[in-house]
Amino acid sequence: MAQPVRAARDIRRAVVTGGAGFLGSHLCEHLLDRGVEVVCLDNFLTGSPENVVHLMEHPGFRLVRCDVTDYVHVPGPVDLVLHFASPASPLDYLKMPIETLKVGSLGTLHTLGLAREKGARYVLASTSEVYGDPLVHPQPEEYWGNVNPVGPRGVYDEAKRFSEALTTAYRSSRGTDTGIVRIFNTYGPRMRADDGRAIPAFVGQALSGRPLTVAGDGSQTRSICYVDDTVTGILTMAFSGHAGPVNIGNPDELSMLRLAEWIVELTGSDSPIDFIDLPVDDPKVRRPDTTRAEQLLDWRPQVPSEEGLRRTVAWFAEQLAAREVRAG
Ligand code: NAD
Repeated sequence: MAQPVRAARDIRRAVVTGGAGFLGSHLCEHLLDRGVEVVCLDNFLTGSPENVVHLMEHPGFRLVRCDVTDYVHVPGPVDLVLHFASPASPLDYLKMPIETLKVGSLGTLHTLGLAREKGARYVLASTSEVYGDPLVHPQPEEYWGNVNPVGPRGVYDEAKRFSEALTTAYRSSRGTDTGIVRIFNTYGPRMRADDGRAIPAFVGQALSGRPLTVAGDGSQTRSICYVDDTVTGILTMAFSGHAGPVNIGNPDELSMLRLAEWIVELTGSDSPIDFIDLPVDDPKVRRPDTTRAEQLLDWRPQVPSEEGLRRTVAWFAEQLAAREVRAG
């Protein structure tokens, strides 16, 4: 059922949970650029204060160590809560299944409570993983998904499905102004080199001359969106009164083998490509239907994949060089 649209509001102070992570740190930066004060809550489970160290001197920025599964307390007014805390890479959530379920359930409950208490707008970071291994392609928001609740990936997928249901319930039964974004694979600077996701893994392997490890035969597809585009989409949703869910992603779809070959080209590496076992329940295809984002938010990705990959490779190369200098 379509939810009524709320009027967009004036946003002066935002809380970003998971703000010291990959997406969260970019969100904090973009919000500060728009003149919004930011309180960043993070327990550094998969993120790091290093991701926001460049914001520490900003008068509008505060970093607070906090596990949102315990409690969430923020003194003063809050106009927007962005709930981004959660392990997000398969390697992380397979290692931390209970933490992932807790942050999707208790963390979502506590942050929705904060939004309700403050009368703030609330945006939930959901994921394309709610579609599981999809039987409909590309995936529109109306598709209910194909998820195995007892498979290894179920901890993440079901945590996000539960958090979507809870967010929707707060909107319909408590009157909280909520929005849900279903984010598709995003890449860019500040991804962890060892987080197990394909792009940092391939770039790290190519830059160090090791073989690129492609799962299966590499024919499985993903649609990759550069972080600046994803963040612009999320903030357009945050500054609107729409309920969603809205897919935020880049509909350009490419196979994992093509991605690996591209990264070899862009890094000028002579690394070979090795094929390894496909993980259990790995989705075969993934591409967002972005019609809703275009119609409701007038948003579409702007950064071509080649350009985004070039910027990402340059960032990882800089990090590697700095590490080598530090190591002497
Ligand atoms: P990330 O691991 O870099 O960031 C997550 C952050 O949440 C980390 O800083 C971590 O320390 C923090 N965190 C985890 N549990 C916490 C807790 N209990 N209390 C406080 N902080 C906690 O991951 P990311 O890629 O930046 O993803 C951010 C959000 O976006 C996640 O909710 C993820 O599900 C969602 N998302 C990301 C992508 C993507 O492609 N990056 C795609 C879909 C959805």
